Parts: sequence; structure tokens; C-alpha cells
Amino acid sequence: MLSNISVPIERIVSKYIQDEKKVQDISNFLKFYKSRSWIYPGVLKRRYGISIIDVYKFLGDLEEAGYIKGYYEIYCGTCNRHSGLEEVFETLASIPETLECENCGSEILSLHNAILIYKVLGEK
Ligand SMILES: [Zn+2]
Repeated sequence: MLSNISVPIERIVSKYIQDEKKVQDISNFLKFYKSRSWIYPGVLKRRYGISIIDVYKFLGDLEEAGYIKGYYEIYCGTCNRHSGLEEVFETLASIPETLECENCGSEILSLHNAILIYKVLGEK
């Protein structure tokens, strides 16, 4: 879990979020994530009413600190759902140009429909 990290999450989050109460809430929420689970930046944005830019900024810092790792996940622009593909990609360059949506069969232009999500690292 994210709770046993050396750089306090609070300190990283507070670099970008001014509201102290939100910093606490967000930090507590992040600590709740289990190892190997996925953090969706959009969830943090909606839940705390903060900008997606700020979310990506502190998640980026957490990644740099070695607590989470970013991956690209593919969404379908036609049915607006997750593509059903289990696969995630470590870099934009490794994503095939087009993929087929497993929900609706549409061809997905992958690069336009890739979102950056984060996997929680750690052994527990
Ligand atoms: Zn689809």
C-alpha cells in the first residue's frame, strides 16, 4: 500500500493543491489504494473538484518517487467505453496504430484514445 512510503504523500500533493482539507482527503484516498491496483486520474478530478492538470502533476511526482507507474489504457471513442482490451502499454510508441474495440467492434485510433493511468507499486 501507499501508506509505507518515505516521502509523505501529503507533501507531494500539497505542492499542487492549496486547500489543506483536500490535501488530507486526497492523501488518505491515495493511501487506500492497494498494491497493483489502478489509479484513474479522472476519478480524483471528479471526486475532489480539482483540475486534471494538477492531478497529473502530483501523480507524476509520485511516479518519480517510485510509488506508482504510468501506463496507457485504450478507450473506444465510438461506444465511449473501455475497449475491453486487457492490455496496457508502457509507452505511446508501443501502442499499435489501430485496435479493434471488443465491445462494439469499431476500429480505434489508439493514440487518440489512450489515457494515462497509474498502477500502484509495492509488494503488499
Ligand atoms: Zn467500442
